[in-house]
Amino acid sequence: MSLPRVPLLVGVAATLLLAGAAAPARAQESPRGYIEMPVSEDGTWVLTSPTGSGRNWGTPTFVRHLVMVAREWRRRHPNGPFLRIGDMSKPDGSDFPPHKTHKDGLTADIFTSPRNICHVDYPDQDLTLELAQLFHDYGARQILYNHQKVIDGVSVAQRWPKHDDHFHIVIDPNRVPAEGDLLVLPEASARDGAVIAAPRLSAERTGLQLAWRILGQSRLKSYRVLFDDLRDDDGVLHDSGPLRAARTTYDLPVALEHGKTYRWRVELDVGGEQPVGFGWQRLTTDLTPPAVEALSPRDDAGVDAPTLAWRYQKAGVAQGSFRIELDNDANHRRIAGTLGPFQGAATSYTLRVPLKRGKRYWWRVVVTCANGNEAASEWHTFKHEPGAGEATPGASAPGASAPRGGAPAARAGTVNADSLNLRAGAGTDHDVVTTLRRGTLVRVLGDPTADWLHVEADGRDGQPVRGYVARRFVELVDD
Ligand SMILES: [Zn+2]
Repeated sequence: MSLPRVPLLVGVAATLLLAGAAAPARAQESPRGYIEMPVSEDGTWVLTSPTGSGRNWGTPTFVRHLVMVAREWRRRHPNGPFLRIGDMSKPDGSDFPPHKTHKDGLTADIFTSPRNICHVDYPDQDLTLELAQLFHDYGARQILYNHQKVIDGVSVAQRWPKHDDHFHIVIDPNRVPAEGDLLVLPEASARDGAVIAAPRLSAERTGLQLAWRILGQSRLKSYRVLFDDLRDDDGVLHDSGPLRAARTTYDLPVALEHGKTYRWRVELDVGGEQPVGFGWQRLTTDLTPPAVEALSPRDDAGVDAPTLAWRYQKAGVAQGSFRIELDNDANHRRIAGTLGPFQGAATSYTLRVPLKRGKRYWWRVVVTCANGNEAASEWHTFKHEPGAGEATPGASAPGASAPRGGAPAARAGTVNADSLNLRAGAGTDHDVVTTLRRGTLVRVLGDPTADWLHVEADGRDGQPVRGYVARRFVELVDD
């Protein structure tokens, strides 16, 4: 190991002083180079296992990371909950059953106390997401946790068995900032390499929002945004000049061109000699919509469970997602229902929603290219005729539950919670199969009056998923 140990240990000691923790005269290093996570005497964080248990060891960089996250979290949420640190590594990096990992000194299980917000049943997952984002900002390269909101919101978060009630985090030691740094980060929407699509601009192609965030305490005096093309010899395209409001977004007054690369940065005056900020972030524009053409079913066809198919075209850019809009009149002033959006490049979708016999429906597909530009097909119509020809995959699939013949109509409902767990069985003791967003359409397969409804929904890939949801979070639709 060629880590510069002495400076890191000095960094840790300084951190501990700032955190109000008992600063050890000298952190005791294990032969492996790990140190023990100290106790925080003012409760900035708590430890699950006591000092000396041999469960709270990590590299000095990792300990610094945990202290910085705990401090920043407490600064934002002074009344708690506070970070509760569970198993890290053993001092010698040896096997740590039942964990398969927790040997590298860069890993910990994270809870909060007294309430544990790192739990999929905790109702305010926005708070949970904020904590996961904070770990990422300070250098986490992996977070295992089973709530979709966090998985969607943090690029390094992923689902993993048995991670319903804590974060399992692993850091990249090279991404952990030095102690004392005020951290200014571009938001993902404006980070180096981002592609800017038309929906983010006004009709005049201005108004791109540049956004950043500040970690740590700052006495912001002013900020200044610089925006340029890639040419160095002609001055910057736009300089906001010093602005005094305490804001972390800036709406760019410059009109952008399609297919061009720009760069931007922000400088914060926080009273020091040098402004604080980050290096140039390059942004590329893609302002053209894809082409989309509906192919089948042919207009006015009488079909049972129609498979809607379309053609997507955009050179070099794949379809990123699609949604189906379904209407029951020709005006489309207020569209009756939307299915999706579904991620991916599929160019067909089998309708499995309950439809009325003999009724005419209008549909179109709205596609979004991987860069975020959107286009809609023309509206087309079909008539629902149960048992009618056109043996579509959907009509014979086990998931199909559209009413046929004399069978009672399937009940449908929509999710009326921001995020609803679909479980493998009826009750919270069953595993979460997936989470459904507000407004998701579900087909009720069994008794619509049970406390736990057996339902089928379209998964994020457009394939049907089945499971159980608490009835109070579903609004049944009467047909
Ligand atoms: Zn773990």
